[in-house]
Amino acid sequence: MRLRDKHGRFITDLRVSITDRCNYRCVYCRTGNDGAIYSELPIADYQRIVRVFVQLGIEKVRITGGEPLLRKGVVEFVRELSKLRTLEGEPLDLAITTNGHLLAGLAQPLKEAGLRRVTVSMDAVDPVKFAKITRVSNGFDNVLAGIRAARRAGLDPVKVNCVLLRGFNEDQIVEFARFSREEGVVVRFIEFMPLEEDRVWSPVVVVAMDEILEALNSFRPVRQLANSLSETARRYTFDDGLGEIGIIAPVSHPFCGHCSRIRLTSDGKIRTCLFSLFDHDLAARLNAGASDTELAGYIHSVVDKKEARHHIGEPGFEKPSRSMVHIGG
Ligand code: SAM
Repeated sequence: MRLRDKHGRFITDLRVSITDRCNYRCVYCRTGNDGAIYSELPIADYQRIVRVFVQLGIEKVRITGGEPLLRKGVVEFVRELSKLRTLEGEPLDLAITTNGHLLAGLAQPLKEAGLRRVTVSMDAVDPVKFAKITRVSNGFDNVLAGIRAARRAGLDPVKVNCVLLRGFNEDQIVEFARFSREEGVVVRFIEFMPLEEDRVWSPVVVVAMDEILEALNSFRPVRQLANSLSETARRYTFDDGLGEIGIIAPVSHPFCGHCSRIRLTSDGKIRTCLFSLFDHDLAARLNAGASDTELAGYIHSVVDKKEARHHIGEPGFEKPSRSMVHIGG
């Protein structure tokens, strides 16, 4: 039976974190110190879990982390997932979100293994700002090379995600518009959410959708493109049709009503919402010898608890029990 929550939403999109290690320390995500405890399952366990989810109606699988390209066996994992078929008998829509640092050497093998799409996180097109945000001095050239290699390999579309932070990179909006037009990539601006390890989030740091649109319009008039309902990004191009910009605005324009997502953390916990206050321990059941049918039953019971929406910015908002790097974005 297909996964459907008690708010009537079908769950078709699974994000699987295959490690919570990361080689970047982005200021809006990680703490400057490495005090974290990391935890991963064997790749074979993720494979089994994804197979069970696909039997319940999952159609899109996004591999994430931590930094997923750090995980040994990621190419083989993609190859195995590419053999799965949806309930309609179609191949999965298989994607990876990566910081791009190791992508130049992996884009072609990943494409050959069956990956369809890639999203690269890149928060500045100015190398100095990039280093300041990622707290890594030699990353920019690698990421640029990774984006170009992904395009050459035929991963399509290549999306570039940029989290905007006031005081760090709001002056990069127009630069990214140029980047989209010159590099042939979809650039998506994401509003900063309270999911960081260091507790630095505040509404004044968020660069909201209206401000982003204003900056884009000062460069060239923007034109909105059609959206599918479950799409998180509002899509735009410019008056001449060159370049594509998405704006993902979970803070100023939440899209929970259309949420079709569920997440598996690298240590095998299910998260029904980025902002959940609880995890649901699927790995414990798997390790205790549960059959696929028992795992499927448990997944149904968890989906039944999916929250109606998040409460960012509301009085009484409680920070989630995990930060982004330990959830898998
Ligand atoms: N390491 C990979 C990467 O850099 O894309 C995958 C994991 S990363 C946690 C996934 C995405 O979450 C990235 O695009 C990152 O920019 C975004 N992200 C992390 N913390 C965030 C926050 N507090 N608010 C909004 N987006 C965030």
